[in-house]
Amino acid sequence: MYTAGSQAALHVCEIYTSIMGESTYAGWPAIIVRLAGCPLRCTWCDSPHAYRNGEEVPLGEILQRIETGGLRLVLLTGGEPLAQAGSRHLVSQLLRLGYKVVIESGGGVSIQGVDPRACIVLDIKCPTSGMQDRQVWENLDCLKPEDEVKFVIASRGDYEWARDFLRRTDLAERQVVHFSPVEPGWEERQADGEREAHAERKTHGDREAGGERKADGKREADAERKPDGELGADGQHEAPGRAGEQSTDELKPRAPASEAGGGGGDRGGLRLAVPTQPPGVTRRALAEWILADRLPVRLNLQLHAWIWGAGTRGV
Ligand code: SF4
Repeated sequence: MYTAGSQAALHVCEIYTSIMGESTYAGWPAIIVRLAGCPLRCTWCDSPHAYRNGEEVPLGEILQRIETGGLRLVLLTGGEPLAQAGSRHLVSQLLRLGYKVVIESGGGVSIQGVDPRACIVLDIKCPTSGMQDRQVWENLDCLKPEDEVKFVIASRGDYEWARDFLRRTDLAERQVVHFSPVEPGWEERQADGEREAHAERKTHGDREAGGERKADGKREADAERKPDGELGADGQHEAPGRAGEQSTDELKPRAPASEAGGGGGDRGGLRLAVPTQPPGVTRRALAEWILADRLPVRLNLQLHAWIWGAGTRGV
C-alpha cells in the first residue's frame, strides 16, 4: 500500500487501463498515465488532446489510482511526460514500489536524470514532424541498451531521412529501433485537439482575469492600509502577484531553437530537412520499403488503431 509522502502534483490528462499499443511492450496490459502539456507541436501528433493543462493531481492520488488499476506495468506518456519536473519523482516512486515503468518521450526535453531502471522509448523526429530543430539530440548519448527509439514516418522523404540516419550512425546496433507509420485521420485529431486546448486556455484566461481583477482590488485596498515600503512577515518587500502558484510554462509549446538562438542544425552529418506537409504513408508501403532496404528496424503499428480505431481515447 502506498502512503503519500509528497504534496507534489502533476498535470494529468488521463489515467486508464489498456493494452500497450507500441514498442516491444505492445500487447501487454498496462496502466496508462497520460501527462498533460507538450513543448512540441508535431504536424501529425496523435495526442493533441494532451496539449491542454489537464487536471492537477497530487502525486499520492496518482499512485493510488495506479494501484487501483491492479497491474504492474505502467506507461508514462503524454504530451511530453518529462516536461513536468515532478514526473521524475513519480517514476522513482513507482520503481521503488516494484512497478515496471516505460516512458514515451517525444525527445523535445532532456532525458537526463530519469531513474535508469525505467525504460525510455524516445522519438526521433523526421522532417514532416516540423520539430527537428527542437529535438534534444544529446538524448541519444544518454540511452541505455534497454531503451528504444521510434521514428514516426509520414512520407517517403521521412523514410529516406530515417534510413540514412541509421546508415550513418550506430543507433540500430545499440537500440531497438521502431519505424511507425502515421495513422490516418491525424488532420481531424489535430484540429480537435487545438480546438479543445484553445477552449481551455480561454476558460482558464477568463478565470485568471476574474482572479486578477479581485486580486488587484485587494492589493489596492491593502496598499491604502499600508505605508509605502512596508515589509512582509519574512522581512522582504511583499511582491504583488501570485507567489507560490505553480507555473505551467513548461507545459506550453516552446519557440524553435533557431528562433531562440539555440542549436539544432544537423546530427550525424545529416542536414535537417525543411518540413513538408505529410502526404501520408500506408502500413504496407512502409513494410515493403523496410524489406527492400533490409533495414534492421521493427515495424511498429499502433495496436489501438487496429483494435479500437485511430483516435479513440481512453482505451
Ligand atoms: S512530442 Fe509531438 S507527437 Fe508527442 S505529444 Fe508532443 S506534439 Fe504530440
